[in-house]
Amino acid sequence: QHILSLAYAAGDLLVLWALVMILFRRLSEQQAGPLWWLFGAFSFLLAYDLITSSLEGFSSLTIYGTLREILLSACILSISIAGLRQLLALSQPIPGAGRYSLAGWWETARLMMPYLGLGASFGILILSLIQPQALSPLMIAIWVSLILSLVILRQVLVIRENQRLSGQLFQLNAELERRVVERTEALIAANQELQERETRMAHNALHDALTGLPNRTLLIDRLEHSIRRMRRDPQYSFGILFMDLDGFKVVNDSLGHSTGDKLLIKIAHNLRSCMREVDTVARLGGDEFVILLDGCAAEKYLVDAAQRVMDVFAVPYEVEAQYVYMAASMGIVPGIPDYVEPADILRDADLAMYEAKALGKARYVVFTPELRASALDRLMLEKDLRLAMEKSELHLNYQPILNLVDGTVSGFEALLRWRHASHGMISPGTFVPIAEANGMIIPITFWVFGEAIQQLAAWKKQFPAIPLSIAVNLSARLFSQPDLMHSIDQLLAAAQLPPADLVLEITESAIIQDTSVAIKILQACRDKGIRVHMDDFGTGYSSLSYLHNFPLNALKVAQDFVMRILPGGENSEIVRTIVTLARDLGLEVIAEGIETPAQMEYIRQLGCQGGQGFYISRPLAPEEAGRFISRHSFSRIQNS
Ligand code: C2E
Ligand code: MG
Ligand code: MG
Repeated sequence: QHILSLAYAAGDLLVLWALVMILFRRLSEQQAGPLWWLFGAFSFLLAYDLITSSLEGFSSLTIYGTLREILLSACILSISIAGLRQLLALSQPIPGAGRYSLAGWWETARLMMPYLGLGASFGILILSLIQPQALSPLMIAIWVSLILSLVILRQVLVIRENQRLSGQLFQLNAELERRVVERTEALIAANQELQERETRMAHNALHDALTGLPNRTLLIDRLEHSIRRMRRDPQYSFGILFMDLDGFKVVNDSLGHSTGDKLLIKIAHNLRSCMREVDTVARLGGDEFVILLDGCAAEKYLVDAAQRVMDVFAVPYEVEAQYVYMAASMGIVPGIPDYVEPADILRDADLAMYEAKALGKARYVVFTPELRASALDRLMLEKDLRLAMEKSELHLNYQPILNLVDGTVSGFEALLRWRHASHGMISPGTFVPIAEANGMIIPITFWVFGEAIQQLAAWKKQFPAIPLSIAVNLSARLFSQPDLMHSIDQLLAAAQLPPADLVLEITESAIIQDTSVAIKILQACRDKGIRVHMDDFGTGYSSLSYLHNFPLNALKVAQDFVMRILPGGENSEIVRTIVTLARDLGLEVIAEGIETPAQMEYIRQLGCQGGQGFYISRPLAPEEAGRFISRHSFSRIQNS
């Protein structure tokens, strides 16, 4: 029994030790307060148990009983205070932790439950001390059962609460995980989008938006690469094709820009598919394409590739229910180690392409160093042309135009001539395109008008009875001159000539270049009584639809068609068709380039009102032209 009493004290020591361990865990003051009271309570209980076990023999002493009662009461009082402090602490927010609120009476009751048990047992203890006989063993059993029930109830509630909390925790965890997965997925998607956008931007910077082909930047980069590789590796070779569509502007102007775009996309696609994967097919802009053929500089191979490009245009393109025949002019340059910069090889390819255009388009030209020399000549001519007018190197020749009905001279066409100080005679076919390109054609044409009108006035004075007219060729560049009509008016007035004596010759291609302005100019001419003839009819991009929109007086059949007419009238179908068309539209027809008597005869039979050509006369100097007038004024051209 002595050992059993000591076990009580040992149990108390164990509890005290546990409390000390908890207290030394750096608890906040709020958390530590109640524990100190518990510590005190168990210290009293330890003292009580020690006295009970060690001073058993003095149990008859009053002091022994009183000391034990004081210690036990102090113990119970300390436990109660600890419980109250804990209750107060719970009703206040714990710093650093979420606020715990005693929401509702149920929550308070739940928290109070263990203390109710404690309070009840304290009450029973006090009662048994005051009135030892007041509680029968049955009552004690009932009270103990009640207290135990409360403890069990509290335990059940705690378990349930724990289950609820762990369920909530599980749900929160699952939710957290789901959010983490979602967020990770969103981040991965955003990252992918960013990467795609970067790739797209890099692609856009190097590719043409319309056709998707490599653009100039990428082409230059690949050219640089090929040039560098050729310098390093003598086995390596490359070549380029520089291509420009013929008459693409006409398609754009007549069918609209969106049709033009669709056509470009189709052409780009076909070009791409007729080349090898390793070749670069690039669009430089507008209707210019460059093909870089990797690993082959042999002329034969480059020409084969050019032929494949030509085949791309052999069939008509269908765009918006219309069929359009396209063609391209190409310059071919085999890569050589002399090239240092991409711009050098592109310049040469451009020159060769330009030559292909000059030779009649729809063809390819292989670059040769002579082409560069002729380009230099062109540059020199351009420079000299600026001085030609000042140095009086320009003059006019006049080619007679006959009235084929009665054989009289109906007028002359003024044709420009340039006698270059060192190069001799330069044909207008050579220098007029240069003058058109650099704008010199504007002052030159004003000068031609002045000369031609004065010359006509002189002839009219000399041959007053002969109704003569003078035809001047007008380039499209002149359409943009606002004072053109005014200057012509002034020149005619100064020469005292009626506007009907002046004829303007305009080509189809000039009209097509800027149709709306051309119509305005032609309308102004008609209003004033100046006549307009369409020059070289049949060679341009004839769109028959515009013919009746334009205020024209006559069509000049291009000499190509007239010169093809053989004795007996063979090959005359085109001229015959043009004559019929003109008649239906109420226009006159003048045939250019009549070189033989047979052509002359046939032209007359077809019903052309006018004729011009070497058979009648070559372009003449003014004095010769005067003599021509006096010879032919009243004579009828015989069937000679
Ligand atoms: P165009 O207006 O069609 O002029 C007719 C051209 O054909 C002239 O060449 C003339 O000499 C040539 N020709 C006339 N009859 C025959 C023939 O029977 N056979 C052959 N083979 N040719 C013949 P030219 O004088 O060399 O002029 C060529 C072109 O230069 C002209 O073609 C015209 O487009 C342009 N041109 C001439 N003078 C001027 C001008 O003052 N201003 C503008 N803008 N262009 C001009
Ligand atoms: Mg002409
Ligand atoms: Mg002509």
